[in-house]
Amino acid sequence: MNKKLIIGNWKMNPVNAVEAKHIAEKVRLASSKLKNTETVICPPLIYISLCKVKGESKNCSLGAQTVSRDVEGAHTGEVGINMLKDLGVEYVIVGHSEERERGDTDEIISKKINIILDAGLIPVICVGEKVRDADGGHYEYLKQQIKGGFANVSKKHAKNVVLAYEPVWAIGAIEAMAPDQICETVLFIRKVFADIFENTLAMKTKIIYGGSVNTNNAGDIMITGKVDGLLLGRLSVNVVGFTELLKFVDSI
Ligand code: PEP
Repeated sequence: MNKKLIIGNWKMNPVNAVEAKHIAEKVRLASSKLKNTETVICPPLIYISLCKVKGESKNCSLGAQTVSRDVEGAHTGEVGINMLKDLGVEYVIVGHSEERERGDTDEIISKKINIILDAGLIPVICVGEKVRDADGGHYEYLKQQIKGGFANVSKKHAKNVVLAYEPVWAIGAIEAMAPDQICETVLFIRKVFADIFENTLAMKTKIIYGGSVNTNNAGDIMITGKVDGLLLGRLSVNVVGFTELLKFVDSI
């Protein structure tokens, strides 16, 4: 069975290492009891080694929120893919709207996707429109984002990616996108992916949703939205909320 995928993007939280370790331990424990769900925690880079456990960590992997666009060299402040791999990171988020805001273009995103895949890690590529318009302009926007990000990615590489649909207007908001709209948009994203690569590959690719997911709306988003998982921001550093959501998603 294809497991559901729940990714927690901690962003620039929590404010100290003790709290980071606490969240990681609790989430890891909750994840070890799940049957149908895989969890990925993406702490800030400085906490990654603290959140790592020795030996087997059932159902819970480590992810990074970012990676340098360069593999090596003189790049002050950057963290390279091989450093992340060495720490046990398996997933890397790319193209988050907050990184796009800070200057990551489609070209940079495409470069990062290849760097991550070349290292044998899994990129979680975020796409999402800033606004929705009555004429459906957001569909063209999404299509261009996907085409741009995957411009230089081979079909062989594209088998190992996760797509995260994150409408920017629903991130950090009060309400998530309506599940039926999520379903429609995810179908569209799959179709664009099928047009770039091929249908069988697109059907197998995990597409997850992110944007104001909470314990109340997660079930409807998973079922009606027909997504393969969720990308959580705020909820991922709330131990009670995150572990409750994991248990719930695992049961549906
Ligand atoms: C995000 O920033 O990727 C996100 C999904 O945030 P939130 O869940 O807080 O809306």
